[in-house]
Amino acid sequence: MDKKIKKIGVLTSGGDAPGMNAAIRAVVRTALSSQMEVIGIRKGYNGLINGEIKEMSSRDVSNIINLGGTVLHTARSPEMLTIEGQKKAAAIYDILGLDALIVIGGDGSYRGMRELAKFGVNCIGIPATIDLDMNGTEYTIGFDTAVNTGMDALNKLRDTSSSHERCSVVEVMGRNAGYIAIWCAMTGGAEDVMFPEAKDIQDSKKVIQQIITNRSTGKRHNLIVVAEGIGGTQKLADDIQSITGIQTRATILGHLQRGGTPTATDRMHASMMGYYAVKAVLEGRQNQVVCFNRGRYEMLDLEASFSMQKTLDLEYYDIIKTLSI
Ligand code: ATP
Repeated sequence: MDKKIKKIGVLTSGGDAPGMNAAIRAVVRTALSSQMEVIGIRKGYNGLINGEIKEMSSRDVSNIINLGGTVLHTARSPEMLTIEGQKKAAAIYDILGLDALIVIGGDGSYRGMRELAKFGVNCIGIPATIDLDMNGTEYTIGFDTAVNTGMDALNKLRDTSSSHERCSVVEVMGRNAGYIAIWCAMTGGAEDVMFPEAKDIQDSKKVIQQIITNRSTGKRHNLIVVAEGIGGTQKLADDIQSITGIQTRATILGHLQRGGTPTATDRMHASMMGYYAVKAVLEGRQNQVVCFNRGRYEMLDLEASFSMQKTLDLEYYDIIKTLSI
């Protein structure tokens, strides 16, 4: 039998994101192509702590590139927040004889990597969250699919609100970041968008005033996007209706935006990032993360990624308003 030159573990952690499966497939197949052994770890850090593992073959990742969710399952692991949990996870890593742990997840998952690194675990990160709110990388797996789901919902709500001359207020996901809201608003042709980064320059009164102005210039329906990080969507809809007299409906998309078959963009990034994560292990890199910046994939030290601050350019907001007259 061939001597395996390295052995790696792979897990998905935090919120699931469409494209995670394409990343798992890329990790497994790149590693197998390089005579590495791959251990799949189920349910994120919980599975590492509890030793829920499975050796992965190429056939274990057949027919998953098109699936949302994650075949390895994911979890939020309270135990991983404790020193005891982190020590247990590091001990399992040692017992398994892993050379690296590939973590596919969001910024919380990266914080978990940082703790594991203190116990000698070599962690390589692949950014995956629908929220796009990770530092050091312009793209995170799942964002494009989530935006397309939101845009599709806006298209449908546009049909019905236009027929009834109503106002639709649509809440999209994104945690404390407004990336999904901005992209959904721009691509869905919304008139206004409320998101955390613009909290200081906007409020519901301005949104309502804009609706009144737009109606006075002949608009017969209105589409307003609200980011999850702002919330209060039903109350905003109630206020719009009581102040303007326009029939207003609130729709909260919620976890709908987490599911669905990944778009080509997500499959592409996931495949490329999975490939580069394994290459990083082969090159002997330690505690680094895959990033996508200025059209190229690059590796960044995990610590450096924490210190980089990503900001949402408020010009997007100005443009949405300009295009909504
Ligand atoms: P998403 O952005 O989609 O929510 P995420 O990776 O940010 O994904 P979190 O729930 O924040 O999701 O983090 C995933 C897991 O990472 C947590 O359940 C926890 O086990 C671990 N984790 C988060 N923060 C830390 C930390 N400071 N120390 C150790 N582990 C952590």
